[in-house]
Amino acid sequence: MPARILNGIPIRDQIYAELKQEIAALSGAGIRPGLAAVLVGENPASQIYVRSKIAACELLGLGSWMHTPPASITTDELLALVAQLNARDEVDGILVQLPLPPHVDTKRVLEAVDPAKDVDGFHPVNLGRLVSGRAGLVACTPAGCIEILRRSAIPIEGANAVVVGRSDIVGKPMALLLMHANATVTICHSKTRDLPQTVRRADIVIAAIGRAAMIEPDWVRPGAAVIDVGINRITDAAEAQRIFAKFPAKLAQFHEKSSVLVGDVHPAVAEVAGAMTPVPGGVGPLTIAMLMSNTVKAARLRRAQSASNNMKGNMPGAAAAQP
Ligand code: NDP
Repeated sequence: MPARILNGIPIRDQIYAELKQEIAALSGAGIRPGLAAVLVGENPASQIYVRSKIAACELLGLGSWMHTPPASITTDELLALVAQLNARDEVDGILVQLPLPPHVDTKRVLEAVDPAKDVDGFHPVNLGRLVSGRAGLVACTPAGCIEILRRSAIPIEGANAVVVGRSDIVGKPMALLLMHANATVTICHSKTRDLPQTVRRADIVIAAIGRAAMIEPDWVRPGAAVIDVGINRITDAAEAQRIFAKFPAKLAQFHEKSSVLVGDVHPAVAEVAGAMTPVPGGVGPLTIAMLMSNTVKAARLRRAQSASNNMKGNMPGAAAAQP
C-alpha cells in the first residue's frame, strides 16, 4: 500500500487558524506582535524565503519590517543593526536570514540577537533551554517536523527515531525534541557506518542531509514514517531521469522548467513507508508556520515579563530592592 502523504499545507493552515485566535486576544490587550527580518545582499533563494516570511506576517496581521543591507556590510555594522532591533520595543522577533556573506562573522551576529527575540531559536541560550527541556524558542524546522508527526497522530513515545544529519539548525535540535517526546533516538552523519542498516531500524526517519534522493526504498522499514527535510534543486537531465524514471509528472516538470525539486528521500520510498512528507509542500510550509508561532510566543513571553517587572517596580519597597 502506498504511504499516506503528510501534506504540510493543511497542517500549516490549522496552525495559522490557532495563531489568529491568539493574535486577536493579544490585539485586545493592545499588543501587535512584530517580526524584523534582516536580508543581507541579493541571494535569490534567501530573497524568496524572506519574502514568504514577510507575506506570512501580513496574512496573519503581524507587524513586519525588512532590512536589506548590501553584501558589503561589515560584521560591526550588522551588529549595530541587531542592537537597534534588540532595543526597539515593537520588535518581538529578529530573523537574520542565512547564509551571511563569508566576510561576516555569522556566529557573533547570531549571538548578538536578544535571546527573548531569537525566533529562529539559534541563540546558545535557547539551545541550552532546549537541551534542558525548558520552554523557549525552538528552531523552526525541527519544531515543524514535530507538529507534522503530532497532528498526523504518528506515535513518537517509545518509537525508534533515526535522524540523518546533525546540523545545529536541523539535526541536533530535531534529535533533542524527539528525545523529549520520549522516542529512542539515533543521530547519523557522514561518518556513520552502515547508514542503510541503521535507517532500517527506524519507526520514524528524519532526513536532513542536503543530498538529493539519498534515502532509498530498501533503507526503509515497511510502514515507517518518513519526514523529508531536504530541499534539493535538480538541474541535470540525467539525474532527473535517474530519480524520476517512474514519475512522469515530475519529469514533465523538469522538461518544462529545466529544474525540479527533490528531497533527501527518494520518491519511490512512498511505496514502502507508512507515511511520508512530500517535497515541496511537506516540511517547508511548517518552517514558516513555526516562525510565526515563535514570533507570537516571543511577544507573549517578553510582554508578560515586562508587565511582571513593572508590577514589581510598582510594589512598595521595590525601588530599594533593585540592585
Ligand atoms: P547541513 O549541510 O548543515 O548538514 C547536513 C548534515 O548531513 C550533516 O550533519 C552531515 O554530516 C550529514 N551528511 C552529509 N552527507 C551525508 C552522508 N553521505 N551520509 C550521512 N550523513 C551525511 O544541512 P542542514 O541541516 O542545514 O540542511 C539539511 C537539508 O535540509 C538541506 O537539504 C536543506 O536545504 C534542508 N532544509 C530545509 C528546510 C525546510 O524548511 N524544509 C530548512 C532547513 C534546511 P556531518 O556532520 O558529518 O558533515
